[in-house]
Amino acid sequence: MNAMNAMNATNAMNSINSIIVSIGNELTSGQTIDTNSAYLAGQLDMLGIDTLSHVTVGDDRAVTARAITAAAAEAELVLVTGGLGPTADDITRHALADAMGGAELIEDVASLAELEDFFRRRGRTMVDANRIQVMLPAGSRAIPNVCGTAPGIAATIGGAMVYVMPGVPHEMRRMFAERIAPELPAGQGVVVRRILHTFGTGESDVGERIADLMARDANPLVGTTVAAGLVSVRIAGRAASAAEAERLAGATIAEVSARLGDWVVGEGEQAMPAAVGMLLRQRHQTLATAESCTGGLIGEMVTDVSGSSDYYLGGVISYANSVKRDLLGVGDDILAANGAVSEPVARAMADRCRDKFRADWAVSVTGIAGPTGGSDEKPVGLAYTALAGPDRTEVHRHVLPGDRPTIRQRAAMTALNHLRLRLRNNG
Ligand code: ATP
Repeated sequence: MNAMNAMNATNAMNSINSIIVSIGNELTSGQTIDTNSAYLAGQLDMLGIDTLSHVTVGDDRAVTARAITAAAAEAELVLVTGGLGPTADDITRHALADAMGGAELIEDVASLAELEDFFRRRGRTMVDANRIQVMLPAGSRAIPNVCGTAPGIAATIGGAMVYVMPGVPHEMRRMFAERIAPELPAGQGVVVRRILHTFGTGESDVGERIADLMARDANPLVGTTVAAGLVSVRIAGRAASAAEAERLAGATIAEVSARLGDWVVGEGEQAMPAAVGMLLRQRHQTLATAESCTGGLIGEMVTDVSGSSDYYLGGVISYANSVKRDLLGVGDDILAANGAVSEPVARAMADRCRDKFRADWAVSVTGIAGPTGGSDEKPVGLAYTALAGPDRTEVHRHVLPGDRPTIRQRAAMTALNHLRLRLRNNG
C-alpha cells in the first residue's frame, strides 16, 4: 500500500460528512444570497469535514422537518441556520422538535436568564414574544449567543449531531467558530483550496492538458470552472496538517502552471489586472486606456487593484465619435472611411491615447456589444483591441460570443491579456 492509499484508508475510517440546511423564504425566493452555507462549508473544509450537500428550504415547518430528518439520516453532522427569531414565521425550533420525533418544547431557564440580561444591558424591555426563543426541544441543549437574542440548539437525531444557529450571518459565524467548531470531532485532516485562473483558451483545452490530474479520487482534487471569461483550475489538497495540505496544493499549482504556460494569468479575484500591474511595476512602465464599447471597464478593472496609481495614468471613455476625435485626436477621415468599429480606429485610439497620456503603453477597445447595432459586415460581438507600446502598435480583431455584459467583459479581458502577454514576453 503506498503512502496515498494508506492515508485514504485512514481517512475512510475517520470520515465525517455534513449537510448544511439553510432556512428562510428570503433565500428560496432569491432575495438573499445564502452566504451562511458558503461560510460553513469553508469552515468545515478547514476541519477536514466533507459537505455532501447544501439544502435550502422556505419558512415551512413540515418541509423544514423533512429536510432535517433526511439530512440526519444521510450525514453525521447537520448544520442548520435561520428561523430562530421570535416571529410566527420562525419555525425552525418546531421543525427540529418534529424531526426529533415530536419532542416537546421546554423553556430553558439558563437561556431565559441570559436573554433577560441581554435586554437589560441594552436598556430595552423584553416582550413576551421573545420567550419563544428560549424554548428548546426536550433532549436538546442551548448554545449561548453572545451577540444576539436567539440561542442556538444542539441535538442528536439517530447517530447525527445537529446544530441549529441563527440566520443573522455575524451571529451564526461567531457561534460556529467559538462554540460549535471546538466540539466537533476531528475530520479527515485539513483541506487547502487554491484557484489558478487562465485566459485565452477554452475549458476543454485546459482539461485536456491536465486530464490525468483530474481523477475523481485524486489528492489534490483538481477541477475546472468557467466564469467572467476565465477558465479556472480549482485545486483542493487534503492532508493531516495545514502545512502538508499547502505543500500538496502548491506542488499541483506548479505542475498545472507548467503545463498551461502562457494561458496562466494567476490566482485571486483580480488575477488579470493584478498580473498586468505586477509586470508594469517590475518594468517601471505606465498604462493609459481608450475605451469605447467597454465604457471604462478596463479602467475599473485596473484600478480595482490597490496600488494601481503606480502605473495607471488614466483613460478616456471615447464612446461617441466626437470624443474619439476631440479628446483623443482620431482623424475624421479615419472615422468616416472605416466606421468607429474598425482596425484603423482601434489603432488610432491606442496611438493617440499613448501620446496624449505620455504612457509607455495604451490599450484601446472599439466594438459592438449588442444586442442592437450589428450588421452582416459588422456583427454583434465584433471588437477590435489595440495595444500601442514603445516599439509598435498591434491590433486584434475578435468576434466575441455572449450577451452585452459578457461581450464587454471579454473585450476588456482580451485587451488586458494582450498587454500581459506582450509584457511577459518582453514585447
Ligand atoms: P432573527 O433572530 O434575527 O429572526 P433568525 O435566526 O430567525 O434570526 P432569519 O430571520 O432567518 O434568522 O434571518 C435574519 C437575517 O439574516 C436576515 O437578514 C436574513 O436575510 C439573514 N440570513 C438568514 N439566513 C441567511 C443565509 N443563509 N445567508 C445569508 N443571510 C442570511
